[in-house]
Amino acid sequence: MGFFDTFGETVAAAGKTVGGKTKEMAGAARLSLQITQEESRLSRAFAALGEAYYRDHKDDMPEGYGALAADIEASAARLESLKQEKQILKNQKRCERCGAWMPADDRFCGKCGADNERNAGEDENKTTEEAL
Ligand SMILES: [Zn+2]
Repeated sequence: MGFFDTFGETVAAAGKTVGGKTKEMAGAARLSLQITQEESRLSRAFAALGEAYYRDHKDDMPEGYGALAADIEASAARLESLKQEKQILKNQKRCERCGAWMPADDRFCGKCGADNERNAGEDENKTTEEAL
């Protein structure tokens, strides 16, 4: 066996090792991605189970779940408050009758037709003035 034959085998063997490492790395990256995807799927499944359980038991929550339920209620209240703040920034108000969001300057609700200025103090005076 000559030098070039041995050299050729060595290069080929090194090539196989590099190829093997590359395959291993690709395999590891693929598995990392699959693990991340499966963890995400598991989280969503737990969240869906928790939501379903909360919906069915929020009025008769077993004792051990009290703190978790309180977290959900506090978070839901903060979320509602943030949404209201955002709507106020967008110059929106809630209909006094049905709760739908509507432009702050509008008098009648676009959803239920309620007159949203009838009960406002300022407009009571206006109504009184109009009545006189
Ligand atoms: Zn309405």
